[in-house]
Amino acid sequence: MPGRLIVLSNRIPTEGPPSGGLVVALHELLAERGGLWIGAASDFADEPSETFQPVAGEERYEKATFDLTEDEHADYYLGYANSVLWPLCHHRTDLLAMERRYADGYRAVNARVARMLAQIVGPEDRIWVHDYHFLPLALELRRLGVAARVGMFLHIPFPAAADISALTESDEFYQWFAAFDLVGLQTEADVARCLDAYRRHPSGEMLLDGRVKLDGSIFKVRSFPIGIDGKTFADIAKTPPAHDPVHIRADARLILGVDRLDYSKGIPHRFRGFSTYLARRDPCSPRATLLQITPPSRESVMAYQEITRELEALSGRINGQYGEIDWTPIRFVVRSVPRETLVPLYRMASVGLVTPLADGMNLVAKEFVAAQDPDDPGVLVLSRGAGAAEQMTDALIVNPYDAEDVGDAIEKGLTMPLEERRSRHAALMEVVRNTDIFEWGNRFIDALGAVKKPAAQMRETPG
Ligand code: ADP
Repeated sequence: MPGRLIVLSNRIPTEGPPSGGLVVALHELLAERGGLWIGAASDFADEPSETFQPVAGEERYEKATFDLTEDEHADYYLGYANSVLWPLCHHRTDLLAMERRYADGYRAVNARVARMLAQIVGPEDRIWVHDYHFLPLALELRRLGVAARVGMFLHIPFPAAADISALTESDEFYQWFAAFDLVGLQTEADVARCLDAYRRHPSGEMLLDGRVKLDGSIFKVRSFPIGIDGKTFADIAKTPPAHDPVHIRADARLILGVDRLDYSKGIPHRFRGFSTYLARRDPCSPRATLLQITPPSRESVMAYQEITRELEALSGRINGQYGEIDWTPIRFVVRSVPRETLVPLYRMASVGLVTPLADGMNLVAKEFVAAQDPDDPGVLVLSRGAGAAEQMTDALIVNPYDAEDVGDAIEKGLTMPLEERRSRHAALMEVVRNTDIFEWGNRFIDALGAVKKPAAQMRETPG
């Protein structure tokens, strides 16, 4: 009998209809294929429990949560996941928060989730693990003798070997990935970094069939570039908004930035790039307002508090220098906005400014393109540090660290002739269509199912 699909992700929709691109996609994949979706409970528990809690729902699949105590949340989630692995994978080893209890908490939560999974998993099931919160999961499952296929999709960049060596647990880091049967990464560049890191490892071996061997573990690594539900975005964009969502002056052009408040998104660099554009702009050209919409994120992590202060100071300074009585060059809004507001903003914008310093993929780039009017599209300015730049080569690709490069691209985007805008947009739209999120999920699940032999049978499990 074919096994079921078990999806493990940090968050699952526990109340109301699912929202957000990935959550909706996983929901639909599970509704089609059946299975079980497991994620962290939203409330803290007093004591960690050893069984999943079923979540009642009407879906055609099951849902369950594992609980976390407040201490576990601090060490495993805020600590190791978001203050060690996140900076590590985004080339910010300077921000690594080296606290031994973080790594201990991270291992302990993963070991507990693995014990709970081992109680319910069958040998033919496929376990699809999402992201950096659960790197040790496959290794823990193998230790418990679980033979099911286990795949990991890492949504964020795979770090370079030199960065991995900054981790106290660097050797474990290699073992964690190697214990999966399939490791899915966003881009070919990520795959190259992963292979390079294992090649440099003293026990790493490249097999003739392309798989990677580390001690007794063998795994396959492939890129599965994630996308969006482009059709839904294009459909929302076609509906005129009930009211003008921005009220910018009629003679001003809109430049739009939409990112979580995160140091990896390069928002201060973007502001400096915009400032360079303002310094050089012809005073007779139409004014352009940069609207930066930024939902707050991980506010209890120190590095995130610092960036808020930096951005407030920077936008204030630029507005003081270049603003006029009837024009504020930067509008910096720290809040989440509903998709019905976001999509018309994408469509109104002359330039979409997507300039992360490092990003696994960056879905905003794809959403911006999907929302454009093909007859009169805006221009995407895209950082070469975003995974999306590997596919979206018809965007204006910039070096996000170089304010002059970003400033020039803004100028070029604002003055680009219609024909060129249309042809670039058509090529970018093709990329959006080819990386549809539903196909992405099916491709990963099928690839995991195609792993021939559950790796546990071939392994000498490390002790
Ligand atoms: P990340 O996953 O690192 O936050 P992505 O660009 O891949 O970056 O995905 C961000 C998602 O969050 C997109 O779907 C985008 O529409 C959404 N988003 C970003 N900013 C806002 C905002 N201010 N309000 C609502 N949604 C937002």
